Amino acid sequence: MAEVDFADVCVRCGSCLRACHIFLATGRRHHAAAVKIRTLRKILKADVGNDADRFYDYAFECTGCRRCTVLCPFSVETASYVSRARGLLTSSGRYPSTLNELAETQIMKGENWERHLRMFRLSIEMLENQHSVRIPVQKEAEILYVPLQGAHTIVPAARIFNAVKESWTLSIFEASVFAFFLGDMERVKKTVERIKEEAERVNAREIVITECGHAYRVYRFLFPRWFGRDLKVRSIVEVVTEYLKNGEVEVKSTLKEPITYHDPCQAGRNGGLIDEPRFVLREIAEDFREMNPGRELNFCCGGGGGLVAVPELKELRLKAGKVKLRQIRETEAKIVSTICENCKTQLKDLKEHYGINYRVAGVTDLLAECI
Ligand code: SF4
Ligand code: SF4
Repeated sequence: MAEVDFADVCVRCGSCLRACHIFLATGRRHHAAAVKIRTLRKILKADVGNDADRFYDYAFECTGCRRCTVLCPFSVETASYVSRARGLLTSSGRYPSTLNELAETQIMKGENWERHLRMFRLSIEMLENQHSVRIPVQKEAEILYVPLQGAHTIVPAARIFNAVKESWTLSIFEASVFAFFLGDMERVKKTVERIKEEAERVNAREIVITECGHAYRVYRFLFPRWFGRDLKVRSIVEVVTEYLKNGEVEVKSTLKEPITYHDPCQAGRNGGLIDEPRFVLREIAEDFREMNPGRELNFCCGGGGGLVAVPELKELRLKAGKVKLRQIRETEAKIVSTICENCKTQLKDLKEHYGINYRVAGVTDLLAECI
């Protein structure tokens, strides 16, 4: 069966214009989904050759949030054009250099992991001493927990795992997959494969991904397609929700300040993690406030699609984040919680740039504070 070309399906109704936080912030033609797909179709149908620069902004100035898709009467998949166009641009040597360097570094680390192990163990021992928490590294265990760079993605999860006496061990790699933002599926697979091999080394039956939107999508949906379903994949948020529901962790204190929740596009709208974080927050917060709109229709923070890692796009993402900032202000919350590292960085940058006072915290971090 021939593949649907969504650019032919689009009737130019314009519903996607008000759906897109970037178009709302800039009003620029190349940020309109209907224009974007027609333009990117050209790059997908022909050899981009020396024309790459003409398509670059169409492909990389989009967070791949898919809000335009859920509000389009024909579900036109703009993000899929963007991803395929990014892949073609990348293969022709036109990409944001930081994303490419990060993607390369991840692959090199996968190929030379034994060289990193000693230093990694030392840094984790320091964390254990600083935070008085046990953190097993590359030990045989049921769960291989994959963090990101930074203690904040390790210590709260360690406290919860230890509280329920879970059989777990820490991955020496990070969950993020930078090649995903380049639409480079070959390198995505290579990056993911290093976690599969590590899980086999420690005899894990499950891979648990830290709070990270795009990583959740990659591991939850692409990993089984490439490597089968023998290894279960879940987000840490699904795991802690189960602990709470089973009564395995006890909430000993609650949060008094008003708290709201930002649905990350990749984990929520595109990954299905919508009820789990709310369940946890309602267990620990005395004053939980929803954003409007929320859940599947939540606005992107402006930092997704790898934009937070591209310095030259900072101005654009701060501008595009104004819609999110308005949503946060309307709730009058003092804590903004979310389950994606990209979103956390963007939400912190927004509060600093626009001088708004709120704390940004992960759902797992907040739960760890309350048990
Ligand atoms: S909402 Fe869908 S059909 Fe309407 S203009 Fe946008 S992409 Fe085309
Ligand atoms: S995927 Fe998101 S950022 Fe990209 S055009 Fe659609 S609404 Fe805008």
